[in-house]
Amino acid sequence: MTVFADLTRPDYPMAAQRTAETERLAMPTTPQKDSPYNILALPPETILILLAQGLERQYDTLRNNRSVVRQKQTELDASLIAALPRLSALYMCEGKEDKAASVHKLMEMATTPLKEWGIDYFAKEDFPYQDVILIDPQTLAPTPESFELAAKSGGYGEDQILEDHYHTQVRDLVQSARTRRDQLYTSIREFIVRHPLATIREIEDWKDSLRFPKAKPTLASFYRDIPVGWTHDGTVHQCSNCGGLLKPHPDKRLYPDGICVVSNCRKKGIFHKTDELSDSQDMKLLKNQLLTYWVGPGLDEIKIYDAAKAAGRNAALYPSSDACDISLDGFAVGIDAKSYTSAMLLIKRLNNSIGRLIEYDRKIIAVSDELDDRFGNYMATLRSEKKDAANDLEFITVGALIRSIHSGEI
Ligand SMILES: [Zn+2]
Repeated sequence: MTVFADLTRPDYPMAAQRTAETERLAMPTTPQKDSPYNILALPPETILILLAQGLERQYDTLRNNRSVVRQKQTELDASLIAALPRLSALYMCEGKEDKAASVHKLMEMATTPLKEWGIDYFAKEDFPYQDVILIDPQTLAPTPESFELAAKSGGYGEDQILEDHYHTQVRDLVQSARTRRDQLYTSIREFIVRHPLATIREIEDWKDSLRFPKAKPTLASFYRDIPVGWTHDGTVHQCSNCGGLLKPHPDKRLYPDGICVVSNCRKKGIFHKTDELSDSQDMKLLKNQLLTYWVGPGLDEIKIYDAAKAAGRNAALYPSSDACDISLDGFAVGIDAKSYTSAMLLIKRLNNSIGRLIEYDRKIIAVSDELDDRFGNYMATLRSEKKDAANDLEFITVGALIRSIHSGEI
């Protein structure tokens, strides 16, 4: 996939319309290693985006129902509910009085610039949103800047925002390198996709092998300790299909070795554990958003790439810093793997834009085998509904693509 998170993102045209204003509200200034903000579940910028999304959706609900905001779980938008305690945590980690405990107080505060909220982080000289006002004091509607912030990560909800955050981190890291940018990009993505679970030694060796010391803290932050409840009496079960972790499951008959934490892997079947048993103390697991949005779609990407290499083809993975997922013979063939469960949603997105796949002579969309239903409806929908940007695309299942690569047809 060219864009990591497009798997389940709702259509959101604003995200595509990157205006000058969006660029101004550009990259987050992520807290550094020993920062007091590290205790937060989300970086402050992410909390802010979540809040802007919550305000936008709450405003829509109020407008449609002509009602007023009440501080009740059932009546508040989910993003707003998630944002409030996280904003409170931000006050607390600065040792400040919590002004986010009441949604009414928050709405009032949102009509003033962020730097006046009593949070040092938002008032910092280098904080790009310090003057942003989220709600217009006159109309009480979210401001254009608030909409821009809400659209910044290209999708709604905490997972989407965090996924975009990780994507941005890798992109920024790679851009900061003086040379080897494309090579670094591929090395980082490929290791993560191939190692949803890794030993501490493997992660250390990988970081050393990149010869890019600056990247070490960021890359380390992608992995976390394995929760005790996800082990089998302290032992880790590794999935024999994707290399992820098999979590203990109450249905021991169906999942004797546990259930895989990678959702795309679960769609492909039930897999046993590998023979290797490891102590959970020696291993790390990727963070949830990376398991879902990088490793999941990556299963098909890696499968195609490995098959092309095995067939002796001139293949590249995530070439030119992610112009497509796999290329064959330079710009002769570009392949993007897709695993959307809805063919309609996928083709609508592709009709709108095919991203940098446009740079390739032959443009191929490879669809996960498990989506190709018995009656061929999924593939038929893609072929019959394609238009505009998607006109030149070829659609094929991953299995058929691999056979064609072997036979030399593609
Ligand atoms: Zn798996």
